[in-house]
Amino acid sequence: MKAEFIAVGTELLLGEITDTNGAFISRELARVGVDIYYRSVVGDNRERLLEVLDAALHRADVVILSGGLGPTNDDITKQTVSSYFGLTLEENPEAMANLASYFSSRGRQMPEVNRIQACFPKEAEILKNNNGTAPGMFLQRDGKYVFLLPGPPREFEPMVKESVLPRLSSVTGTQLFTYTVHTFGISESALYEKLRDLIDTQDNPTIALYAEPGQVRIRLAAKAADDGEAKAIFLPTEKEINRRVGKYIYGFGEDLTLSEAVVQKLIEKKLKVATAESCTGGLIGKMITDVPGSSAVYNIGYVTYSNAAKNVELSVSKTTLEKYGAVSQQVAEEMAYHLKKKTKAHIAVVSTGIAGPDGGTAEKPVGLVYVAVATHDGVKVEKLNLSGNRDRVRTLAAKHALWMVLSEARAYISE
Ligand code: AMP
Ligand code: MG
Repeated sequence: MKAEFIAVGTELLLGEITDTNGAFISRELARVGVDIYYRSVVGDNRERLLEVLDAALHRADVVILSGGLGPTNDDITKQTVSSYFGLTLEENPEAMANLASYFSSRGRQMPEVNRIQACFPKEAEILKNNNGTAPGMFLQRDGKYVFLLPGPPREFEPMVKESVLPRLSSVTGTQLFTYTVHTFGISESALYEKLRDLIDTQDNPTIALYAEPGQVRIRLAAKAADDGEAKAIFLPTEKEINRRVGKYIYGFGEDLTLSEAVVQKLIEKKLKVATAESCTGGLIGKMITDVPGSSAVYNIGYVTYSNAAKNVELSVSKTTLEKYGAVSQQVAEEMAYHLKKKTKAHIAVVSTGIAGPDGGTAEKPVGLVYVAVATHDGVKVEKLNLSGNRDRVRTLAAKHALWMVLSEARAYISE
């Protein structure tokens, strides 16, 4: 089943407001297995609206329009669409009663111009709008489905969910279910290499990669009749992905962040983490505390930015600082070792590096970062050569630190 969306409104065309309804409808229709091939924006103009409507009806089975259902002269969508099909508008008593009660419940007199909002062709079905005065309209004509919905997103979005999706998914008999596998520490292209055959050949579920700094989401989408069927469709693919790239996976589920995965794992294992940050300046602590409930696993973090602070707060020896420099494997090791000792956290994590843009040398370029973790098992350091601007270097370093905490928490066996 193919659908098209038409956003009506001169203000959209002029760029005064952005057509967010279009993006929303595309995402929602995909969920019910309806393909959307075209979206248009047209001004409040009868001739041009007729033109795009006609084109859309030739190309698609379903046409959804938003906007232009208001009471003013420039709101012409309902009139125009009705006249396209040769239908006339009549006042609908029930819609009129609803409209009147909308105003009276707010202690307001209904302006006469609003009357038009209660007028519909008798062939149409009226779609309830719980958040505004303009009801929507649904027409079935010549084997096509046409939906008219109000423009304001807070009215449009609930109506899509309540009135459009159920009607369409009952026709397609399919819904689109999605499932996300979250990875860290492997690039999009490396992941593509490893999953290429699945990505290129499979169509249920389809597999798509979405890259963010340091992370790639593997999004599976399956057309299925219900949740159970969707799970059965995902399972073999999920297993295969796990087999190939399991060591990069930090979790599953729609919007899971790396921090959430870390905090969940620490809670599950009853572990505490402490942080001491140099180049990330508190970002690791920020990411941990972004997660509600992180107080169960996080007591304290230090920002030890200067050499003196590293020495005074974390007992990093002056000799080590002088001999190797603050950005060194040795300093990272000492920071982690002493942080663990001082805080008695199960896992101590630290960062030290050169975030740029200045301060790099040939030997220690911008982007060089050491992250270290200490547990009762000892200290591990990783040397990262990150690229990008200051913000990106710091973000990647902090995420990498979290990733190391996750690995330690997963492997953690109590003493
Ligand atoms: P209308 O129903 O055309 O009078 O639109 C009323 C208001 O809804 C507009 O002024 C916008 O603020 C908003 N709106 C209309 N169409 C859209 C759209 N496609 N995306 C986002 N907002 C919209
Ligand atoms: Mg308008």
